[in-house]
Amino acid sequence: MATETASVATATDDERLKNSVHGLVIAPDDEGYDEARSIWNGAIDRRPAWIVRCTGVADVIAAVRFARERDLLVAVRSGGHGVGGHALCDGGLVIDLSPMKGIHVDPQARTARAEAGVLWGELDRETQVFGLATVGGIVSHTGVSGLTLGGGIGWLMRKYGATVDNLLSVDLVTANGELVTASDDHNRDLFWGVRGGGGNFGIVTSFEYRLHPVGPIVLAGPIFHHLRDAPEVLRFYREFAAAAPDELTTIVELELAPPLPFLPEEVHGEPIVMVGACYAGAPEDGAEVVRPLKEFGSPIVDRLEPKPYLALQSMFDPLVPHGWHRYWKSVELPPLTDGAIDTLIDGTSRITSPRSYTIILQLGGALGRVPEDASAFSQRDATHNLVINAVWTEDDPEGERHTAWARDFFDALQPHARDRVYVNFLGDEGPDRVRQAYGTAKYDRLVELKRAYDPTNFFRLNQNIQPD
Ligand SMILES: Cc1cc2nc3c(=O)[nH]c(=O)nc-3n(C[C@H](O)[C@H](O)[C@H](O)COP(=O)(O)OP(=O)(O)OC[C@H]3O[C@@H](n4cnc5c(N)ncnc54)[C@H](O)[C@@H]3O)c2cc1C
Repeated sequence: MATETASVATATDDERLKNSVHGLVIAPDDEGYDEARSIWNGAIDRRPAWIVRCTGVADVIAAVRFARERDLLVAVRSGGHGVGGHALCDGGLVIDLSPMKGIHVDPQARTARAEAGVLWGELDRETQVFGLATVGGIVSHTGVSGLTLGGGIGWLMRKYGATVDNLLSVDLVTANGELVTASDDHNRDLFWGVRGGGGNFGIVTSFEYRLHPVGPIVLAGPIFHHLRDAPEVLRFYREFAAAAPDELTTIVELELAPPLPFLPEEVHGEPIVMVGACYAGAPEDGAEVVRPLKEFGSPIVDRLEPKPYLALQSMFDPLVPHGWHRYWKSVELPPLTDGAIDTLIDGTSRITSPRSYTIILQLGGALGRVPEDASAFSQRDATHNLVINAVWTEDDPEGERHTAWARDFFDALQPHARDRVYVNFLGDEGPDRVRQAYGTAKYDRLVELKRAYDPTNFFRLNQNIQPD
């Protein structure tokens, strides 16, 4: 009897929801349901009761009110790259912003407004027409939404700060279903919180960014060395990175050489270390800066050369396709000690899957000079972010072994790491790790803000700030 009542109510609700939004509402029996509930991390398999593919602010407001009235669990999805899978829920309602693709660039004012479903490659394409860009992520199919709300780091960060340092305003739908603007002039407290505090305070429907002259040609790209040379390469890198100007951002990757056409076939599958760099300035000025990096040791291949900024921004795309299974462990590293270098090399030599890798992003520069209390983003004094990525395909039965590799590697790094982590590199790891991302003082301030804007924790499928 109870089941019957529930199914009658659901049928009515289904119609009500479909009538209240303009975008597609997809339920489990509908065509396209499996595609609509798939996100970047193929290991996430959840079955929402409804997925609302919002076409604009009105749909977002309608979906929030619908869920609120029925006390439904709500997930918010934009680019779908969150590795922990918070963009999906079992039962409940997914508010899917991915159809919201509007972009408007004002080349005179050097600003851009992007709707919540825009991906970095899409925004870069529009801004690069005018030789402009804001600080984005390093993969073109990551969403601007989740990345910005967690802080945002990428190739331009040491010159222009984090993505949130270039955020001018957001439009946001609150847990009550009201649209507000947050900026330096409106709802300043909320603006402080959305710049790093994730989706805890509402659903951002659009972002306004400051742009900078970038490219269209930049001096950038990777240099690959054998892992056997890594002790010298990483010691050299440590000194080189420490002395780098703000224009230069570097990234290190340790992995088994992927079968990319520009890597010689005989190294495919062999352990390698990659040092990548991007000079955010005139390529001719950067040549002298990167010369020591290019001249060091005996690289397998050197692809650090002038290239379109758009090519740089999609350089990693083939290595991170949608659908593979992933498990991440991330931590902040101080300047690399000899012990850290040895552990990195040892961990890489134990890789269990040809698709797994470890990435280390260099922070500092302009990003590090913004005061810690300027926003919720909490990486001002960080030197490096490291992410150990265990990656395998659906038909590989050894997922457990690959995740164990990541966990063991992470544990081995602990003596060399800081007790902090970048919130956007967290999986679904529980409240202690979220607190670790912000530190106690900032976390407490975020709790106050959460109590003001979302006291019932309506938005809780995220790196959650718990109101009580
Ligand atoms: C391949 C890859 C590369 C990456 N590279 C970088 C990088 O270079 N720099 C970097 O800083 N990070 C990077 N990240 C991490 C990335 O910032 C986070 O995974 C981020 O959450 C992705 O945002 P999304 O919109 O694509 O994901 P989603 O999974 O759609 O969103 C993640 C979460 O953010 C919240 N959310 C999303 N949109 C909204 C919204 N509009 N309003 C309110 N809340 C919202 C929700 O809680 C949601 O669960 C990368 C991740 C991947 C998988």
